[in-house]
Amino acid sequence: MNIHEYQAKQVLKAFGAPVAEGVAITSADQAEAAAKQLPGPLYVVKSQIHAGGRGKGKFKELPADAKGGVRLAFSIEDVVKNAKDMLGNTLVTAQTTDAGKQVNRLYIEDGADISRELYLSILVDRAYGRIAFVVSTEGGMDIEAVAHDTPEKIITVVIDPTAGVTEADCAALSDALKLEGDAREDGKSLFPALYKAFVEKDMAMLEVNPLIVMENGRLRVLDAKVSFDGNALFRHPDIKELRDVTEEDAKEIEASEWDLAYVALDGNIGCMVNGAGLAMATMDIIKLYGKEPANFCDVGGGAGKDKVAAAFKIITADPAVQGILVNIFGGIMKCDVIAEGVVAAVKEVGLKVPLVVRLEGTNAELGKKILNESGLAITAADDLDDAAQKIVAAVG
Ligand code: GDP
Ligand code: MG
Repeated sequence: MNIHEYQAKQVLKAFGAPVAEGVAITSADQAEAAAKQLPGPLYVVKSQIHAGGRGKGKFKELPADAKGGVRLAFSIEDVVKNAKDMLGNTLVTAQTTDAGKQVNRLYIEDGADISRELYLSILVDRAYGRIAFVVSTEGGMDIEAVAHDTPEKIITVVIDPTAGVTEADCAALSDALKLEGDAREDGKSLFPALYKAFVEKDMAMLEVNPLIVMENGRLRVLDAKVSFDGNALFRHPDIKELRDVTEEDAKEIEASEWDLAYVALDGNIGCMVNGAGLAMATMDIIKLYGKEPANFCDVGGGAGKDKVAAAFKIITADPAVQGILVNIFGGIMKCDVIAEGVVAAVKEVGLKVPLVVRLEGTNAELGKKILNESGLAITAADDLDDAAQKIVAAVG
């Protein structure tokens, strides 16, 4: 689960991280009062969307030379003007789709005088099986470009879970970031605080880009992007409350209500599968035959007819879907249940695109019989290869 920057800063602040004062607003009427709560004279007006690259982003409704989604303002009037300019408009960044995201919320922040922009993130390093800091002196810009062009400028410090962030780790991080004086002192409390926040709140990713050294020599978390491990949310009701469903894919929300794992992708073949491994294999083989999956919906092991029907409806609701591949290996899941769910859903919502079904395993024959006798235009497939070729050919 992702949260907004202003929420992430509140979470980190509670662990002692230095963040600027700020006020979140949802309408331009609130901009003046928000700015008046801040010391000034420099303010920052920041679009709150679940995507990075806002500073370099473009608003669809504004002229091409208009400023991006993070703007400096030099007076309260300037804050108000920029708030009016941004709220309600659609911001397209390198991390959104071309459709962009509507800016429904702004964060008005006390501006900082920046001396240096650094990069810091914390993640679970799967190669080490440990939590690691990834840092670079080249913050503020596209870290992917730094990783690609000058990988030596990105430094990883792996943390021993039994020791936590040690003095030696702090020194290694400070050296990597070339921190001196007060900033080096600040690092001694900031690095352990961020690590503690990451572990205690079950974060999947914490990215501070940029972490800044201010003109006064102190560190500040200037931007914060945090995502949480969805499987651990049950033990963090405070974090769960931060969820902003307006930022999420409507179909993914509906799927989560049915306890289905649905992932929207960019292609045009919808996939209904059971099990994550089969989902991966199905997507791979579609790509092998030259097409791209539009999504996949994993109905899991114990789905009943209604859940299967819901899954089918979610898949067909995506206008990008030009064909559907149902690929089920019946183990715990019975193929006749899948067949009944598909038939029920098709009878309810109709079938406007080709549908290829591959059923194998428990009650496969019964499932095939149900499909054959349904009178619906369903193409049966013998195996995974055959299924992928048939749906790719049908989509054309
Ligand atoms: P992003 O573009 O979505 O990553 O948003 P950021 O919060 O990282 O802001 C983008 C850029 O705006 C930063 O890299 C800074 O250069 C600039 N910026 C943000 N806040 C401030 C601030 O308080 N003072 C100054 N001078 N620049 C800022
Ligand atoms: Mg940033």
